Amino acid sequence: MHCLIGYFCSMSLFEEKSPKRTPLSDLGEFGLIDHLTQNFKTKQSSTLKGIGDDAAVLAAGKGRVQVVSSDMLVEGVHFDLSYAPLKHLGYKAMSVNLSDICAMNVVPKQVLVSMAVSNRFPVEALEELYEGIYAACARYEIDLVGGDTTSSTSGLVLSVTAIGEADEKDIVYRDTAKEGDLLVVTGDLGGAYMGLQILEREKAVYQENPNMQPDLQGNEYVLERQLKPEPRVDIVTLLKELDVHPTSMIDVSDGLSSESLHLASKSDLGVRIYEDKLPMDPTVLSLCDEFQLDPTVPVLNGGEDYELLFTVNPSDFEKIKGNPNFSIVGHMTPDKGDYYLIAKDGKAHPLNAQGWNALLQKKEEKKSTS
Ligand code: ADP
Ligand code: MG
Repeated sequence: MHCLIGYFCSMSLFEEKSPKRTPLSDLGEFGLIDHLTQNFKTKQSSTLKGIGDDAAVLAAGKGRVQVVSSDMLVEGVHFDLSYAPLKHLGYKAMSVNLSDICAMNVVPKQVLVSMAVSNRFPVEALEELYEGIYAACARYEIDLVGGDTTSSTSGLVLSVTAIGEADEKDIVYRDTAKEGDLLVVTGDLGGAYMGLQILEREKAVYQENPNMQPDLQGNEYVLERQLKPEPRVDIVTLLKELDVHPTSMIDVSDGLSSESLHLASKSDLGVRIYEDKLPMDPTVLSLCDEFQLDPTVPVLNGGEDYELLFTVNPSDFEKIKGNPNFSIVGHMTPDKGDYYLIAKDGKAHPLNAQGWNALLQKKEEKKSTS
């Protein structure tokens, strides 16, 4: 192996670089994407938005655009087949990707599904996976239009590319929030994280004693939030009906804290979130009590809720006020880089982005084991 690499290097196909070895954990996920892509310049006039938002936006003629996004789910990193049924996994892989199209204020229409599978999966298992994919296609009127299939020497890898089409004027980006805009989130938060806590707890109990039956009763809501999330396609339609055009938008895949910071930093603003405004389902509250967790933690940093987070001009307040789909959780401030949570006691705490950063998680694990 070594000889071959040496041989190819000596052919000087690429300019040689010094053999510096920076651990991925030094950069983290967002830092790595930035590092690898910051100097890339797009050349096509049809590329209206490249890297840096929930989806790319491509001109399709006559004021129309195509919106494209892809996301990958990797066994052992994003899912654990000891508790994620394959049908749910197929559905979730779809939701995660459809959600990114919704985050551009667009209704998704098509998907491509690519997978790498090991021969430990029988055909029936993959049929089950596709039952979930087709269930999401049916529910959201999505066409499966292609993909790729290859083998994997270890786990299952699923990558979905989702596509939507819209008028260019309807697209909402991350970087266009304005000072004084209200920060609004849909649904409730923290459920997916608490669902994961239950599943991890029951897995540990089962590993201790395989005769024990998992105790999942009463936790259906949070389990569904974790295993079978729904993309908020309904919100895209609702915003149109209400004649609300958000000034910026993102989906909540990494937790409210991380996503608010994205909207604020990309828009060169600050943000304030109010703890007493955070939307939580009562089951999340009682589970936090059981797990002795401060409920604000899964809401801010839990992730995987796939709700939509957006900003609106205060003049739209009357249109969203009292609507059970929306919670106004804060506002955008002029102070670039000032990100604060105002706690129930009125104290301001700096917000930071602790999300589902798989690369950083590895760093934390390394720290705790070294
Ligand atoms: P999201 O959480 O909404 O899926 P990400 O944080 O994964 O968004 O990605 C942010 C941006 O970086 C997106 O525009 C995405 O397309 C882009 N991106 C992510 N990984 C890569 C990569 N390996 N190469 C090029 N662009 C990437
Ligand atoms: Mg997103």
